Amino acid sequence: MKQSFFQLTFNDLQQLLEQNSLNASAANLLYNWYYKRKNKYSNSITDIAKGTLSFIDEVFSFDLPEAVKIQQAEDKTVKFLFKLSDGSKVESVLIPFNKKYSICLSSQVGCAMKCSFCFTGTQGLKRNLSASEIIGQFLSAWHWLRENRPGEERILNIVFMGQGEPLHNFDEVKKACEIFTSQYGTSIGHQKITISTSGYIPGLKRWKDEIPGVNLALSLHSPFDETRNELIPINRKYPLEEVLDYIDGIPLRNKQFVTYEYLIIKDLNDRQEDALALGQLLKDRRALINLIPFNEFPGTQYKRPDLERVNQFKLLLEEYKIPTMVRTTKGDDVLAACGQLNTK
Ligand code: SAH
Ligand code: SF4
Repeated sequence: MKQSFFQLTFNDLQQLLEQNSLNASAANLLYNWYYKRKNKYSNSITDIAKGTLSFIDEVFSFDLPEAVKIQQAEDKTVKFLFKLSDGSKVESVLIPFNKKYSICLSSQVGCAMKCSFCFTGTQGLKRNLSASEIIGQFLSAWHWLRENRPGEERILNIVFMGQGEPLHNFDEVKKACEIFTSQYGTSIGHQKITISTSGYIPGLKRWKDEIPGVNLALSLHSPFDETRNELIPINRKYPLEEVLDYIDGIPLRNKQFVTYEYLIIKDLNDRQEDALALGQLLKDRRALINLIPFNEFPGTQYKRPDLERVNQFKLLLEEYKIPTMVRTTKGDDVLAACGQLNTK
């Protein structure tokens, strides 16, 4: 089987060309063709030598994940179900904001972390995605926009909040970030990429050296270990205090914050004492809080609190002067909201 072109960083591509006695400057042209201009096929490339092109076509596949189901919500959110080359399926979501989009990408098929509130977690881990499958979700979604909403093909932010624990697939997620940020290609700034983690310390340890500048979001969900253990079982192995120590050790740019996601579940972590402890915990940190009302899914025992309760919680946090947002659920009508991704 041919290897995917989208698996190669710019340096990999240059090296490969050199090793085969081809002009390494074609790397620039190829990145420009496929990533910057986002062409699908090579047949109209004119500025690359024939020999180089036929080598590239012989060695690489340019296949992208195939969208087998596309759901569009009232608010323009689009959920894609992608089929990968081995038949596995993952989902990605385009989230609209002022005529632009953020894309929520999956990093694994399923997830090993088994969080009790997470639809994906109920699937277990099937396998890691390759960098090309991560990039492929982005490119396929982009091509869909160009064909279906011409003029709107602007995906400016990338969030790793789809299926999977991105830090549990560190190498491929890192490579995908390297390709996304390459100035020769899509040239997406590090500050436009956010990786959300449940607190997987082996990945947090590598963050500052290997993916510096990328934004971090921690799924916090409770300031209390006991509750967090119930919600996020890996908290037993990687307790919150240690997780926060590692996060505090990651340097932040000017005006950069760490996002702390707080899933609010009715009668579980929505009490006044939860809000106060959360405020205490984060008040001296460069923190943003994202309150996420729980999204119910078939078979879950948890409930979403009413909006009034969520707003009360937010009000209590204001005392601590931590910027707090309530994540309004987008794409509710197509079950596209984060944490509702399940492809079993
Ligand atoms: N594995 C990573 C990233 C994917 S989950 C992580 O856990 O952070 C992305 C976000 O969706 C996380 O904050 C997660 O806690 C949240 N989430 C999961 N299930 C949810 C649900 N049912 N309702 C609302 N948010 C959910
Ligand atoms: Fe995995 Fe994140 Fe879901 Fe937990 S919340 S099971 S880490 S995808």
